[in-house]
Amino acid sequence: MSLIVMKFGGSSVGTPERMQRVARRIADYKEAGHKVVVVVSAMGDTTDDLIDQSKLLNANPPAREMDMLLTVGEQISIALLSMAIDAIGHKAMSFTGWQAGIQTEAVHAKARISDIKPDRIFAALDNGCTVIVAGFQGATAEGEITTLGRGGSDTTAVALAAAINADVCEIYTDVDGVYSTDPRVVKCARKLEEISYDEMLELANLGAAVLHPRAVEYAKNYNVRLVVRSSFTQNEGTSVKEEAVMEQGMVVRGIAYDKNVARFSILGVEDIPGVLAQVFGALASNGIDVDIIVQSGTQDGKADFAFTVSLSDKDKAIAVVERIRSEVPYREVTSEVNLVKVSIVGAGMVSNPGVAAKMFAAIYELGISIKLVTTSEIRLSVVISADHCQEVVRALHTAYGLDTAEQAFVGGPQDRR
Ligand code: ASP
Ligand code: MG
Repeated sequence: MSLIVMKFGGSSVGTPERMQRVARRIADYKEAGHKVVVVVSAMGDTTDDLIDQSKLLNANPPAREMDMLLTVGEQISIALLSMAIDAIGHKAMSFTGWQAGIQTEAVHAKARISDIKPDRIFAALDNGCTVIVAGFQGATAEGEITTLGRGGSDTTAVALAAAINADVCEIYTDVDGVYSTDPRVVKCARKLEEISYDEMLELANLGAAVLHPRAVEYAKNYNVRLVVRSSFTQNEGTSVKEEAVMEQGMVVRGIAYDKNVARFSILGVEDIPGVLAQVFGALASNGIDVDIIVQSGTQDGKADFAFTVSLSDKDKAIAVVERIRSEVPYREVTSEVNLVKVSIVGAGMVSNPGVAAKMFAAIYELGISIKLVTTSEIRLSVVISADHCQEVVRALHTAYGLDTAEQAFVGGPQDRR
């Protein structure tokens, strides 16, 4: 007998038929003698629809009321799923985040979980119930309802798995695991049997939408055994763990791309100590996350540097850079969009020379110029024109030996989170 957390994303419970299929899967585990805690997202596009509705009434709704509204989506799911399980003869009990003992910081729209008191979950399990918990939500110590940020149900599942010391946390979605790259771009992308937390974290942060980065971080910190698998098939899925076996001869595990990039160049900056601190301090205090930063050589006491921010922060960043011009004189600032950051990720990169050279060579052979480069221990990213995204991802997939002959991709509609 195992204690299992199962998490189902919005598309997995998007219709009554799908809800029934999920209920059946849960019942199978129950009948095999396992104890089951289920975390579920809002059905289909519910969260987006609720956001749209709010905009009809208020372009800038109060964050507290927004959380009150969005948490409804998951509450519909838990109640309906419990009914579906009851209908096939099993005991189930639904809990809101608050009832499940999930306490968060006092922040709306993107609260972090601060504590979980799973007493009621254990009591319900002891009563032979399957426990159905609303994802993406919690409450502050004062009892205010909060949400964990878009896609936060993954985090709920992993945090609960850690809190109740579950044997495994299974994340059910509409693809049958984590792929070496986006199977919509590369038909011969391979499903990975295993991936390490660190690699998964890099991929998730780079926009591979299959798992929320915060959930992966949580799983790593609490050493939660994670499995990503499809709710539409019985396929085994991908195991996310501390140490993942690398297939023989491979150094790269996956390739990700992210089009949410804007690049800035600040040219002819007075090269005096503290300039970088001033520029990036101003960006940070305006809540702008900077990703890549490159300072190129100085000439005549002037320096050039470039950095990237997410597309949605572009206008804000321009305003900040213009505002600081009086304190940090520079000749010119330019910005560029229609870019993509393509990254290769693999724990094997640490100890293998030539990984970067191969990437640059493959891109050079396509005649494409690289605008920026950045690395971490297990990742190498380049920024290129978005027009070349597909061909570059394909070429790299081949260059690092990731192509598979068979087209293993099995999936339903894109999971919306
Ligand atoms: N329903 C929420 C969202 O769409 C949370 C989730 O699905 O994980 O972002
Ligand atoms: Mg959702």
